[in-house]
Amino acid sequence: MAMPIRIEAIEAILVDLPTIRPHRLSMTTMRIQTLVIVRLRCLDGVEGLGEATTIGGLSYGAESPEAIKSAIDDYLAPLLIEHPVDSVRALRALMRNAVRGNGFARSALETAWLDAQGKRLGLPLSTLLGGALHQRLPVAWTLASGDTERDIAEAEQCLEQHRHRLFKLKIGSHDVADDVRHVSAIKQALGERAEVRVDVNQAWSEAQAVQGIRALEAAGVTLIEQPVDARLRDALARLSARFDVAVMADESVCDARDGFGLAAAHAADVFALKLPKAGGPLATLELAAIAEAAGIGLYGGTMLEGTIGTAASLHVFSTLERLEWGTELFGPRLLVEDIVSCGLDYAEFGVGVPTGPGLGVELDETQLARYRRR
Ligand SMILES: [Mg+2]
Repeated sequence: MAMPIRIEAIEAILVDLPTIRPHRLSMTTMRIQTLVIVRLRCLDGVEGLGEATTIGGLSYGAESPEAIKSAIDDYLAPLLIEHPVDSVRALRALMRNAVRGNGFARSALETAWLDAQGKRLGLPLSTLLGGALHQRLPVAWTLASGDTERDIAEAEQCLEQHRHRLFKLKIGSHDVADDVRHVSAIKQALGERAEVRVDVNQAWSEAQAVQGIRALEAAGVTLIEQPVDARLRDALARLSARFDVAVMADESVCDARDGFGLAAAHAADVFALKLPKAGGPLATLELAAIAEAAGIGLYGGTMLEGTIGTAASLHVFSTLERLEWGTELFGPRLLVEDIVSCGLDYAEFGVGVPTGPGLGVELDETQLARYRRR
């Protein structure tokens, strides 16, 4: 019997890339995006790539880029090195049993394993996950310059160039009335040519949410993302029941267990799927299955990853039969520079699912050397 192929080395690399403009969210303003890139080398010479990128340091989640790197380098890599590469489920069980939380780090390693296996077998990652049902997916753009006129101009440009016609507005850092004015002005300017959605990133109290959602629904907004604190499941359920406009859980729903709780409580109409939140590609599909069983809509979310993490999400989301709210996989487009040799195929309001082996993307070593943190 042939000796099993083993993992030889794992490296987590911090990469700081400038954004095309300041990106204003309710909790922070981003001017650079820090990617955490994982390189997983196997003894047969195959290397897999993964990404564990978060939004605004510690402002979105409990894992910072530096902590993710430490979790990988100091804890997960020693656990996985010398481990055979024949079963991603064995690798996942090993990580889950030895490490609490740290879903971003585990997700990047599972992705890197799948990329390596795909390259080894000559198959795209989506094929390893059962096969793609979509070759292209729609992509929303986030208008978050902080300025109404600038956001309208940006949206008009996106429409004209056939880049995006789904727009998400990041709100919650101003008074509810100011946010409503901002969103309504943008929706009015774009009219029926575009769909406008909002992400409050947990910023509102329940009372503010009632006031805000009522006005936004009247203005023609189609989706309200995470209006209240992630832990306020009952408040989310009351808001979902009270309004016709769809309410989406993002920070409230990470993995299948969260999804089960929200579904049982009728707390949301839509779930935002994100690989790192769930703890990896397989866990994301488990959450999607809960949503499908419960009749909850699906949306392909982003942690504003670069091309590697975005490609991983594309492969996973392409296997879902129904993704009725589309995706927001625009992360690479927010960055001025990239660290891959060939970017994703963005065109006609969407993006193509890569077709090459594994993730279907290759590192540009020169760019990586230039932007990696020293
Ligand atoms: Mg969100």
